[in-house]
Amino acid sequence: MAQTALTAEQERALVQLVAVYPVADELGRRFAAAGHELYLVGGTVRDTFLGRRQDDLDFATSAAPADTEALLRGWADAVWLTGARFGTISAAKGSYKLEITTFRADAYTLDSRHPEVTYARDMDADLSRRDFTINAMALSLPEHRFVDPFGGLGDLRDGLLRTPVEPETSFSDDPLRMVRMARFVAVLDARADEAAVKAAAAMADRLDVISAERIRDELDRLVCGPAHAAGFDLLVDTGLADRFLPELGALRMQRDPIHHHKDVYRHTLAVVDGVPADDLVLRLAALLHDVGKPATREFHPGGKVTFHHHEVVGARMTRKRMAALRYPKDTIEQVAQLVLLHLRFHGYPEGEWTDGAVRRYVNDAGSPEQLVRLNRLTRADVTTRNRRKAERLRRAMGDLEERISDLREQEEVDRIRPALDGHQIMAHLGIEPGPQVGRAWRMLKEARLERGPMTADEARALLDTWTAAQAGLSDNL
Ligand code: ATP
Ligand code: MG
Repeated sequence: MAQTALTAEQERALVQLVAVYPVADELGRRFAAAGHELYLVGGTVRDTFLGRRQDDLDFATSAAPADTEALLRGWADAVWLTGARFGTISAAKGSYKLEITTFRADAYTLDSRHPEVTYARDMDADLSRRDFTINAMALSLPEHRFVDPFGGLGDLRDGLLRTPVEPETSFSDDPLRMVRMARFVAVLDARADEAAVKAAAAMADRLDVISAERIRDELDRLVCGPAHAAGFDLLVDTGLADRFLPELGALRMQRDPIHHHKDVYRHTLAVVDGVPADDLVLRLAALLHDVGKPATREFHPGGKVTFHHHEVVGARMTRKRMAALRYPKDTIEQVAQLVLLHLRFHGYPEGEWTDGAVRRYVNDAGSPEQLVRLNRLTRADVTTRNRRKAERLRRAMGDLEERISDLREQEEVDRIRPALDGHQIMAHLGIEPGPQVGRAWRMLKEARLERGPMTADEARALLDTWTAAQAGLSDNL
């Protein structure tokens, strides 16, 4: 294993690397004085070569966790021991978050197969257990000796993802690395080495031992990556996606030469592309918006294909899948709601919506933030090659947004409530708490949505009419 020789340009990059993080040198001197080795390593080194600054600095050290902790106390602004059982001590210094890990000889999580961490004797042994060569480079502190036993710098230049050891061995040690491979394809626009792809395809079922949370964290980064389409292709082609997101591969429905309906999988990736990369909820909603299509597809005589209620089925599938991946409850609700509503706008260009319909649209979106997302998703969903149709939809969406902002100027539309609250309803009707209060409240809210703002007196008059009508109904029974 040859050390990579640095070109003049790389030398300059290295000098910059060090200059960017004076805090790292300072810490290096502290460790050296105590007789320990310290290296800047992993994502920090990789990203600095790519010209991306990180505030999270990864270090590796020969010092045992307890010695690291002792060296940090009195120097760092704060020290955390939450990762100590993995050999990692975390600290804050100024705007930096530091993670200092004792040279490691094995897996990156503790599970039943790896009940405890074992430590490696030196930096090279630690680097050989890392996921990809581009993440297996280190810089010694404070000397600035560049350590690259697996040619990571060359791979970084070539945009190539290779495992330092045989991919079968590496993926056996930690199957999550197969998903990380797709993540780095997506985030770095890199290409995965053929042998690694082959190994992943053969070993995809090994992913089943990995916790949903770890997979989810990688998926979150993947879906926000600029080359997410290549990342998803890798997941689907290798069968990895089937282990944790089978809905994705199912979208690759056969293109039908007679019916000419679009490949839903390609369309989906185009929609992901069309929404901002810094909004995870929106990216996930784009990814999942059509998952209900395969289950609802129907062929009709004459060649028509329909996907009736795929948004309803899709929202249900979205909830289930995201729960299995252990997403937080509110994230699940937001994404599922966007999936459910993603077709709603399409009634708009057909006929003029009443103000009531516009209010309902805003109300169902749930919040101003969700409304912005819904409109973005709806716009991105238009991937038709029919320019006229696309233009018509764009204009209609602009029109709807204008209607919403006009309404906002005239009334409160973002948090529509009835003119009377529960207490006022009870007082007016002379009733106790119970289901009737809820019914009355919902009736008033419906009226508010349909007609717009009303005074408390108008609401009371409405309550009277409603109560009378209800009494009439039960009399007739
Ligand atoms: P990011 O910029 O997204 O944080 P990263 O490469 O720093 O990317 P981390 O998950 O923070 O990714 O991991 C830090 C480093 O630890 C990696 O660069 C890699 O060297 C090593 N590493 C992390 N997870 C694994 C793993 N599952 N198997 C092997 N090495 C890993
Ligand atoms: Mg990192």
